[in-house]
Amino acid sequence: MIIGIDIGGTNIKGIILGNQKVIAKVKVSTKSKTNQKIILDQIFKCIEKLIKKANHVGHTMSHIKGIGVGVAGPVDFKNQKILNPPNVIALKNLELGKLIEKKFGIKTIIENDGHLMTLAETILGAGKNKNNVVGITLGTGVGGGLVIDKKIIHGENGTAGEIGHMTINEHGRKCNCGSRGCLETYLSELGIRKTSYEFFHKRIKSYDLHQIARKGNSEAIEVWDEIGKSLGVGLANIIDVFNPEIIVVGGGIARGAGELLINPAKKEMRKNVLSESAKKTPVILAKLNEYAGAIGAGLLFN
Ligand SMILES: [Zn+2]
Repeated sequence: MIIGIDIGGTNIKGIILGNQKVIAKVKVSTKSKTNQKIILDQIFKCIEKLIKKANHVGHTMSHIKGIGVGVAGPVDFKNQKILNPPNVIALKNLELGKLIEKKFGIKTIIENDGHLMTLAETILGAGKNKNNVVGITLGTGVGGGLVIDKKIIHGENGTAGEIGHMTINEHGRKCNCGSRGCLETYLSELGIRKTSYEFFHKRIKSYDLHQIARKGNSEAIEVWDEIGKSLGVGLANIIDVFNPEIIVVGGGIARGAGELLINPAKKEMRKNVLSESAKKTPVILAKLNEYAGAIGAGLLFN
C-alpha cells in the first residue's frame, strides 16, 4: 500500500493505492498560501486521515510502503527540495520529504505535479501501454511532463517538462515567471479569462465559457478556437522536439472544455509540425480525474 498526495493552491488531495487501484480518497483545504505552519498542518492532516482509512480496511502503518508527494512548480528531485512553487509560496526551498519522513517514519518522495499527472496517465490512464508520453495539465497554471518507458524524465536539474513556460509569442502577454508570451498566459484559467475579455469585453470563467459554447454561442466557440490555436502551437513545438507516441492533455480546464479545445488545437498542430508522420501524433484528453496527481505520486513507489 502506498499513499499519494497532491498539494494544490486550494486543496490537498490524497489517495491510498493498493495493487495500482485507488482504495481511498481524501481532500482537505490548503487553507493558506503564505503560512508554512498552516499548510504543513493541513498536509499532515491529509496523511493522518489516509492512515486512518487504511486502518479501517485492516492495514497498519507498517503496510504503507511509501508516501509520494506532488507539488506545483519546480522540484530539485536529486536533493528532494521544493524550489519556487507559484501557488503555495510558503513551501519555497522546503525539504518537505524529510519533514514528512520524520513525522510518520515512512519513506517519502516529492515530485512536480505535472510529472506525476503524466506518470499516472501513462500507467493507468489515456497513455496506457505507450512508451513515450508527453502530458500537459491546464489549470491555475500550465504544467507537464515527459515519461519514457514508465520513467519520468527530469533533465539536468529536475526542471524538465515546464511546458507552460514555453514561449509561443515573444511579444505576448506578461507571464508570472517574468517572461512574455508563455503558453501559460493563454491556457491557464486567467489566460482564458483574458482571451474571453478580448471577445466579450468581460472576463468569463473557463467553466461558463464552455457552458455557453455548448449552447451554441458562436463567439464563445470562437474564443475556444483561439485558445485551441495557442495550444496547437505548443503541441507542434513539443512534437518537433520530442516526437512522442502520444500527448495527453489533462487538468480541470481540459476536462471541462474537452473537444471545444482539443479539436482546434489538433488542427493548428498539424499545420505547424514538420514531419508528415508526426502530424498524426494522437492528442487525447486525460482519463483520470482530479486525483491524477495524487495517483501519480503513489505510483512513484511502483
Ligand atoms: Zn512563464
